[in-house]
Amino acid sequence: MDFSRYFRDYPSPDGFFGPYGGAELPPELEAAFKEINDAYQAICQSAHFINELRRIRREFQGRPTPLYHCDRLSRKLGNCQIYLKREDLNHSGAHKLNHCMGEGLLAKYMGKKRLIAETGAGQHGVALATAAAYFGLKCEIHMGEVDIAKQAPNVTRMKILGAEVVPVKIGLRTLKEAVDSAFASYAKNYRDSIYCIGSVLGPHPFPLMVRDFQFCIGEESRAQFLEMTGHLPDAVTACVGGGSNAAGSFAAYLNDPVELIGVEPLGRGSGLGEHAASMNYGTPGSMHGFRSYMLKDENGNPAPVYSIASGLDYPSVGPEHALWHDLGRVRYLTASDAEAVDAFFKLSRYEGIIPALESSHAIAYAMRWAKEHPYGSIIATCSGRGDKDIDYVVEHYGYGDEYAFRD
Ligand SMILES: *Cc1c(COP(=O)(O)O)cnc(C)c1O
Repeated sequence: MDFSRYFRDYPSPDGFFGPYGGAELPPELEAAFKEINDAYQAICQSAHFINELRRIRREFQGRPTPLYHCDRLSRKLGNCQIYLKREDLNHSGAHKLNHCMGEGLLAKYMGKKRLIAETGAGQHGVALATAAAYFGLKCEIHMGEVDIAKQAPNVTRMKILGAEVVPVKIGLRTLKEAVDSAFASYAKNYRDSIYCIGSVLGPHPFPLMVRDFQFCIGEESRAQFLEMTGHLPDAVTACVGGGSNAAGSFAAYLNDPVELIGVEPLGRGSGLGEHAASMNYGTPGSMHGFRSYMLKDENGNPAPVYSIASGLDYPSVGPEHALWHDLGRVRYLTASDAEAVDAFFKLSRYEGIIPALESSHAIAYAMRWAKEHPYGSIIATCSGRGDKDIDYVVEHYGYGDEYAFRD
């Protein structure tokens, strides 16, 4: 397939990736999203904006992040070569800062004074609060009361960084209500505020904009792999929640002979409510302002979803992934909770890297791929570090002593 024209053809000017994407907005938000789109279209071509973002990435974020050859892990599996793109070494510990710094810089250029967002597990909230502090902007994070109780360390981080955490007390008091609450605040305040979506999701231009801000992952890994080995990797894999780290990991390779694999969370199994594998078990439909694959219940509402990795439990997926799926350019497979935990311990024990449980899904798949391709090479994106997950893992799975060093 020829992807040399891909970035000119997609998305369409109104934000469609084939039949997916678009912007389904309540009338009171149409003007606000048009303003964001116009501003982004103007600055994404501006050398001044691009240079400023590059400087921030180098001096504040710690980019480029390393590409690391997992020698011991690879040898344990045979003759394959597994590489990790170390997004866990980004300042604040995950790839999310890539798009939050972009969104913060956009807000600054638009003359906005405040960033508004919702957060579920709190990872997006922490990254956005970090960006807001850097740019000297106010930050308002809407979070369900149930999530606030579960995610105390992230709530503390947001508050130390100066963000206002707005507790949402309606409905089930989780992510869905937090989205509604954040949108309502934005509709009231959009003249001096900007809404910041945490993945390649939501109405146009966010799927495009967040993918562009994450593009550096694959752009760097491609150049780094070429420099280290003189050729391209056989495969690149990343975990898929909303799909931002995967979109950023894959986009630079679309026109290369490189296999691309997104890994969705299979959770405890394939029954509705047991997983969050939207592409594998979902159907096309609309929610949260855009069209994509999604998991729905019998009434057509967003289905309950589950994964051991809270950053992956979203009932839909970015619209560009839906297009890549239909074009056959990217394959979307799954890894279960149990496989993710196994990968979590193996990477910790054999390489000295504790990965986030989200990232562990990609690493689990890379190990499966490696066994099937004895002389192949694969890059897995390590989207974040696992410090946030250690208490949960130890409580439910112990310290992983069954993985003790035996050579
Ligand atoms: C939020 C998060 C994810 C999932 O988000 P995507 O948009 O699918 O990338 C994955 N890994 C980590 C560490 C996260 O914090």
